[in-house]
Amino acid sequence: MHTYHTPLDLVRSRHVESPVVCVRPDRVAEAGRWFQDNFPGEVLYAVKANPAPWILQALHKAGTRFFDVASIPEIQLVAEHCPDSRMAFLHPVKSRESIRRAYYEFGVRIFALDCEAELAKILEETNHASDITLIVRLAVSNDGAMFSLAGKFGVPAYEAAERIRKVRAHAEELGVSFHVGSQCMQPSAYRSAMLEASRLIVQAGVTVDIVDVGGGFPSIYPGMTPPHMDDYITAIEDAFEEMMVLENADLWCEPGRALVAEAESVLTRVELRKGDALYLNDGAYGRLFDAAHAKWPFPVRLHRPRGEIGEHTASFRFFGPTCDSLDAIPGPFELPADIREGDVIEIGMLGAYGTALATDFNGFGAIERVAVEDMPWPSMFEAQPDLAEDDEAKVINFARARRRRPRLRRRA
Ligand SMILES: *Cc1c(COP(=O)(O)O)cnc(C)c1O
Repeated sequence: MHTYHTPLDLVRSRHVESPVVCVRPDRVAEAGRWFQDNFPGEVLYAVKANPAPWILQALHKAGTRFFDVASIPEIQLVAEHCPDSRMAFLHPVKSRESIRRAYYEFGVRIFALDCEAELAKILEETNHASDITLIVRLAVSNDGAMFSLAGKFGVPAYEAAERIRKVRAHAEELGVSFHVGSQCMQPSAYRSAMLEASRLIVQAGVTVDIVDVGGGFPSIYPGMTPPHMDDYITAIEDAFEEMMVLENADLWCEPGRALVAEAESVLTRVELRKGDALYLNDGAYGRLFDAAHAKWPFPVRLHRPRGEIGEHTASFRFFGPTCDSLDAIPGPFELPADIREGDVIEIGMLGAYGTALATDFNGFGAIERVAVEDMPWPSMFEAQPDLAEDDEAKVINFARARRRRPRLRRRA
């Protein structure tokens, strides 16, 4: 992969036709090391956020040796790119074939479940193995998060104690897990979920070996500046102290977004301008699914290969390259008012659930990939300015607007 100092250097030095994904290996390494150094337990990377081999290799190089996987292809990727690593199969609904292959072919010993039918599948397909770790996924509130993951998985509180007790009898090691929702803006959400888990464990009257606080750790997007990452760690540490679990229970977390969001952006070309509508060569079926469907606020900047960029800005909306009218990204995005055909827009913070969701629909799947060395947007892992008041207002408005729409439940 070729390295440019900045995306502008690339745009100036040669013609680009397809969208160009700019990767920033330093950002992944920094995030990976931060979690290794600061989280008081095991850090599992949730592979679904971005399964690109370069990401897996960068995380492995930064010390990540534990991965949260949801399918055999994800298991194969980790096995190939991250030697000497452990994997936890944390999808609560697995096919029988995938349970069997994970256990016998790939040595996976950690499985999640939320119901008795899945417990039976795991026990049968591993031939009632005596060396498995079972993680019971609990349903918890997702109110602090921008993306709910509460709709699909998790044992409800009224059934949890009995489920935990039952699973204990079949597990060499037993864990409980939950997911507070993606892009969780409130550290206290982890604390509430952990205390709820503690209550259910006490009610079950058994010991647990693992408390897995899931993913949900946030990144910084325009108008959506979360508290410092330290605050999340502190909230989790304090709640773990308060939990009524054995002192030697292990603490795990499964970040996806926070480890990779900063690590990729895309350079997309303006193919046509019609008033405030820019027709781009990337869109909802490419790397901009969340920008289109969740109206997620990604940062943008203009790179013009030649000529000055005017000072005045205006609000624009985007259309992607396919013929589908759903391929529309309302924004609004603030860009120089004189933007025109041939200009290249960089859309940032697409490392999580950006490239992972791209398709080849309508023949628009081709991309190039280059490495760059700059980091133009604020990072969760460097000193950040405090949350500005107008930012806070935007966060609240965004959360409200999202609540009125049907929620996307694609993540889990
Ligand atoms: C998606 C997912 C994660 C990662 O969530 P982020 O919000 O990206 O951190 C972690 N664990 C499970 C089980 C998931 O489904």
